[in-house]
Amino acid sequence: MLKHDQLYIKQQNKQWVYELIKTKEPLTKPDLVKHTKMSPTSINRIVNDLNSENLIYEKDNDTKSVGRNAVFLQINRDARCSIGLEFDMNVIRMGVINLKGELTYMKEVPFSVRENPDLAIDKSVSMMNEIILEQGIERAKILGVGVGLPGYIDDKKGKVIHSDQLIWKDMNIAQLIFDKTDFQTVVDNELKMQAVSEKHTWKENEAETMVLVGIGSGIGAAVLINGEIYRGSSNTAGEIGHSIVNPNGNVCKCGKVGCLASYISERSLIQQAAIAMQAESMADLAHYYEQGQPLVKSILEQAVMYLAIAIGNIFTTYDPKLVVLSGQFFEYFPRLKTELEIRLNQYSQHDDTKRIKYSTLQNKGVVLGAGIVAGERFLELG
Ligand SMILES: [Zn+2]
Repeated sequence: MLKHDQLYIKQQNKQWVYELIKTKEPLTKPDLVKHTKMSPTSINRIVNDLNSENLIYEKDNDTKSVGRNAVFLQINRDARCSIGLEFDMNVIRMGVINLKGELTYMKEVPFSVRENPDLAIDKSVSMMNEIILEQGIERAKILGVGVGLPGYIDDKKGKVIHSDQLIWKDMNIAQLIFDKTDFQTVVDNELKMQAVSEKHTWKENEAETMVLVGIGSGIGAAVLINGEIYRGSSNTAGEIGHSIVNPNGNVCKCGKVGCLASYISERSLIQQAAIAMQAESMADLAHYYEQGQPLVKSILEQAVMYLAIAIGNIFTTYDPKLVVLSGQFFEYFPRLKTELEIRLNQYSQHDDTKRIKYSTLQNKGVVLGAGIVAGERFLELG
C-alpha cells in the first residue's frame, strides 16, 4: 500500500512540475525548487523524466543580462496533440490542439448534423483521417479526441442523453469514435467545452469564477467555480434556457410555459416574427431590425429584457467575476448590447454591466476547449 501511495505522490509531483512549466515557461530548475519547495534532487529527477519523454526541452539563456548561464525549461508544445470536434446543427468543426493549448489547425465543413447522428459520426471520422494525413500527424502523437455538442450529456460515459437541437438521443459518442479510430474520446456539452477555452482567454483572476452564456440556436450557460466546471448532480447545471422568466408567457418546446428559450432562441425569435411577416432566418430579422420594423424591434427588446433577468439571477446566484456572452445573437444585433446594459441596470442588484464581456473566440471556442480537455485528460505522465 505504501508503495502505491509513494507512486501516486510521485506522479502528482511530476504533474505539478509539468503544469508549472506549461503555464509559467520559461522556468529554470531553481525557479521550480522555489515554487514547489521540493528538493533540487527531486526537481532534477522529474525534469530528466519529462525530458526523456520529450515533453519539455532545455534552452540556454542567450542574453548576457543574467550573467551565469541559466538553462530555461520549456514545453515541447508539438510533441503531442489532441483533436477537438464540434457538432453544430449544420456544420462539423474540427481542429488540432497542441500541448500548450493552442489551436494549430482548424477546418469547418457544412454538414446536415441535425437528425443524422450516424452519418455525422462517419463524416467526422473521415475528416479526422484527412486532417491527420494532410497535416502529417503521427497517430501515436495524438492523445485523444474531445467532442462538444449541444444537449444533455453524460460526461462520465461520453454519452448524449438527448439533444433537442440536433435530435440525437441515447448515443455513446465516445465509444463510437473510439471504435472507429482507436482514439480515447471525451464528450461534453458544447458550452462546458467552450468555458475551458474562455478560461484560457481571460486574466487568471477574472476567470476563476466565471459564467459563459451562449445565445444562438439555443440558450444555455456553463459555470466555472474556482476554475473548475460546476456540473450539479446530473451535469445539467447552467441549463438556463428552461428557467422560467414569465409564468404567463410563451409555451416552450419542453412543454412548460415561459422558459427563457421560448423568447430568445433563434427558432422562437423567427417564429414570433413569422406570424406577421415573411421571416425565415436570423439574417431576415437583422434586416427588419435595421429598417426599424416595430414588431421585430419589440420581439428583440423583449428577448433582451428576459436575458437581462436571467443574467441578473446568475449574478445573485453565483457572484461571478465575469459573465462572458457568446453566440450569434449579438453578432446579428450588435446595437442590442446597449439595450442589455440598460436592462441590466434595471434588473441586476449591483452595477454588473462592468462584469459583462463578449467572447472573442468566435467559431473556435468549442473546438479549442474540447481539444484542451482531451489533451489534459489523456496525457499520461509515466
Ligand atoms: Zn422550456
